[in-house]
Amino acid sequence: MIIIDGAEGEGGGQVVRNALALSLVTGQPFRISNIRGGRDKPGLMRQHLTAVEAALTIGGAVCEGASVGSTEIAFTPGRVAPGEYQFAVGTAGSTSLVLQTVLMPLLLAGEPSRLVLEGGTHNMMAPPFDFIERAFLSVINRMGPQVSARLTRHGFFPRGGGQIEVDIVPGKLSPIECIDRGPLQSVSATAMFAALPFDIAEREIKAARAILSDWPENAFAVRQLPEEQGPGNAFLLEAVFENGCEIVTGFGKLGVSAESLAKTAAQRMAGFLASDAFAGPYVADQLLLPFALAGGGSFTTVKPSQHARTAADVIERFTGQRWVFDQQPNGSHLVRRA
Ligand code: AMP
Repeated sequence: MIIIDGAEGEGGGQVVRNALALSLVTGQPFRISNIRGGRDKPGLMRQHLTAVEAALTIGGAVCEGASVGSTEIAFTPGRVAPGEYQFAVGTAGSTSLVLQTVLMPLLLAGEPSRLVLEGGTHNMMAPPFDFIERAFLSVINRMGPQVSARLTRHGFFPRGGGQIEVDIVPGKLSPIECIDRGPLQSVSATAMFAALPFDIAEREIKAARAILSDWPENAFAVRQLPEEQGPGNAFLLEAVFENGCEIVTGFGKLGVSAESLAKTAAQRMAGFLASDAFAGPYVADQLLLPFALAGGGSFTTVKPSQHARTAADVIERFTGQRWVFDQQPNGSHLVRRA
């Protein structure tokens, strides 16, 4: 039984999700205490519980202690069964984070799977759907398995009600090298909103254009979603390179001005464009798990986040593999197996 202190390192939900995925893939049970011990409201929230339940369902697993607010669970995996599954977070909790819990076990299972996930699709502190589809899955699909995702309905905090569908054709995960992102091919900025004043989108674009001043005018667009999918607002900046893609998102939130969220997102994108790295900070922490399950490969990234370092620690507990972050002369970091 692997024992994990959920307060160590980043101390968030990702520790639980990575442990669930690794447990299902490696067949090793684990116990985790101090779940989300690094967060203001520790313990399992509804969306983490849905991730645990999804892992239980696909993995024929047994779990003690899983309830909202619980700070300790013991998880014993069974046999992963590919198939058709539907999981609803029940709140605006992130569908992407549920997907990330079950994706690796299902894409290493022998037969195809189909998932329908309901909840939030554009949540703060989680990968928005667009990021999963284009920044994350594009790398996974280069490693062997074929995963396609569709958004059928947007879901924003606090209302939720979004839906995504994911088709998974399993395959062996092969180690790949993602060192050079290649030349920049296109950029775009999308101010997406539903049931909110139009000028929010216009103000976001204006603020971002002031920073990304070399982006062409036609790279900036407003996307008005049906009223009944709102209220909600996300500002997405996308840079497509020959070998990869980065998406930086600002999430609309009461109390944060449109200008301020767009400015922060634009500054982050400008910082990434000025680097030479293949993976942005979020792609990096999310790629560690599939790379470890492939047993090798490497990628370059910007300064590694605490999420990335914590993911590496959890991976080492289950696989014995040590993943390191070597700073390169150009300032990027090379993520590789020690
Ligand atoms: P945790 O905070 O432990 O629940 O983990 C949050 C996860 O969401 C991490 O894997 C982050 O990489 C990911 N994440 C958070 N914000 C974003 C974002 N804006 N874009 C993409 N991924 C994100």
